[in-house]
Amino acid sequence: MSAEAKRTSNLIMLTVVNATFKAEFFEKFSSFNKLKRVIAYYLRFVKNCSLAARKRRKSFLTTAELNEAEKAIVKFIQHDHFSMEVSYLSAGKQLPSSNKLIPLTPFYDDFGIIRVGGRLKNSILPESQKHPILLPKTNHVVNLIITDYHLKLLHAGPQLLQAALREKFWIISARDAIRRVVRRCIPCFRNRPKFSEKIMGDLPESRVCPSFVSQRTGLDFAGPFLIRSSKGRGSRNTKCYICVFVCLAKKAVHLEVLFHNQRFQTTFDRWRLLTRMTEHFWKRWSSEYLTLLQSRSKWRIVQKNLDIGDLVLIKHDNSPPLQWKLGKFMETFPGKDGKVRVVKVKTQTSEHVRPIAKLCPLPINT
Ligand SMILES: [Zn+2]
Repeated sequence: MSAEAKRTSNLIMLTVVNATFKAEFFEKFSSFNKLKRVIAYYLRFVKNCSLAARKRRKSFLTTAELNEAEKAIVKFIQHDHFSMEVSYLSAGKQLPSSNKLIPLTPFYDDFGIIRVGGRLKNSILPESQKHPILLPKTNHVVNLIITDYHLKLLHAGPQLLQAALREKFWIISARDAIRRVVRRCIPCFRNRPKFSEKIMGDLPESRVCPSFVSQRTGLDFAGPFLIRSSKGRGSRNTKCYICVFVCLAKKAVHLEVLFHNQRFQTTFDRWRLLTRMTEHFWKRWSSEYLTLLQSRSKWRIVQKNLDIGDLVLIKHDNSPPLQWKLGKFMETFPGKDGKVRVVKVKTQTSEHVRPIAKLCPLPINT
């Protein structure tokens, strides 16, 4: 095919695509590969219409046909977003000096695609890399192309993705466009889940009002541990637990070793006796420590409450993020300040009440 005939055939192809499709049609697709195949079949149909029945192509799509479809799609996007630049360049005119694409020295290639002129003409890079195809930053198909590369490169990060895309495409403000796509990728989010946060709540009465020693106590166990009662040969390991007492008002901590056959009440009584000795610290505590609690050490920013029906990942301490269950946000339990910190979520099999610090809202909700 001569260069002139090629140009004419490209023009017909573009006219057909432009005349038939609108940007909304492309928005129906969620995969660039699928979009390319649909357009390739469409172009084949248009070509077959002008051929005798025996010459028509009917078998699987060829690489050449898919490349042709890709060019048609790219041309459509460029005509849609850079209509002014297309009219200048297709007429062989220079862009006005005020045009924002001037630094890229764009030019019109033989197929009617705007490519970046750049400064790499004398390099040994392939032509497509020296002069990548110009694409806008906000376009559904551009997002599909980025997603396609992201998946082909096994969920590559923004930097690698940008380097790979630049071998063929020059997306304006590529960094932002790429980050936007990667941020919304669910498998990537599952690998680095972001937890939901709420502004830290006001402290409960038991933490900020004077009270008797250990009147309100937090209790936890750590262990089991193996300890020896004496050094040397013959001493046996004994299993024990460490009982942690925390006075809610004074924040005093007391550790007590607890053997598995020891009565818990004995340990608890000892703890109460010891903590009574700390009573005289109360005055110092209220003047020196209480004021420190005024600030919110974390979760300082007021965030938007979750909406009913939002999808969340539910953190499970003993399994990796990829195995965390998906849940649907069902009901809220607002605190005294109106902020929601505890919610009811429904998974595939059951319902749970969870603190929102253990939930990661999926990026598709925003
Ligand atoms: Zn990903």
